[in-house]
Amino acid sequence: MRFDVITIFPEYFSPLSASLLGKAADKGLLSFGVHDLRDWAYDRHRTVDDTPYGGGPGMVMKPAPWGEALDDVLTPESRLVVPTPSGRPFTQAVAGELASAPHLVFACGRYEGIDSRVMAHYRDVVEVHELSIGDYVLAGGEVAVLVMVEAVSRLVPGVLGNAESVSDDSFAPGRMETLVEGPVYTKPPVWRDREVPAVLKSGHHGKIARWRRDEAFRRTAALRPDLLARLDPKALDKHDRRL
Ligand code: SAM
Repeated sequence: MRFDVITIFPEYFSPLSASLLGKAADKGLLSFGVHDLRDWAYDRHRTVDDTPYGGGPGMVMKPAPWGEALDDVLTPESRLVVPTPSGRPFTQAVAGELASAPHLVFACGRYEGIDSRVMAHYRDVVEVHELSIGDYVLAGGEVAVLVMVEAVSRLVPGVLGNAESVSDDSFAPGRMETLVEGPVYTKPPVWRDREVPAVLKSGHHGKIARWRRDEAFRRTAALRPDLLARLDPKALDKHDRRL
């Protein structure tokens, strides 16, 4: 799978060569291109922003450099992802949708964002996803893009080792869709007088699976009641209903 990122701060993307993503790139499962938007700005100062129509504070990213850059980087198979606080929430389900694409192109906004005509124009050309990573405002799209690239990449077949299954993760489509994962433990069995729950040391796979599911329900109810409210009753087994 190919990821291209267009930004005025290419240096934000050095983490793409580290850890899980770096290893997946070395194996040829993922490839990354990071492009400086200013390479498509042709005036002496390589200007990418201007004052907003209608007045108000801040600057808006000019459509011309974005148009030139996207015309060069997009292909007919690409999907264009534009991070913005006013976008559709980026969720695990959206990450799964994007992971099936062969090519994602990310357009990192700065200042007050990108001139809206850019998104309107490319909606006629490719699939465009305007996505928000949460209800807060960052200084630019770069960190949001790193979040999305990492979440999408771990869903690309082969990127995670066999030992790590995405199907048990919080929000995984299916039985975990509206649940967060419960607590996890490793050795030693006792640390500062706190013991690992006995069931996890029992070797009884059925009981362990049941305990994990019960704990997922408890944690979701305590910390994310909004998710439980969306739970599909058909996804509940007999034991879940008793909880
Ligand atoms: N004036 C804009 C608004 O209120 O919606 C905020 C612009 S923000 C300072 C600059 C850029 O940061 C945005 O164009 C977007 O690329 C990125 N950004 C900020 N918050 C974000 C979020 N929650 N999710 C995704 N991208 C975000």
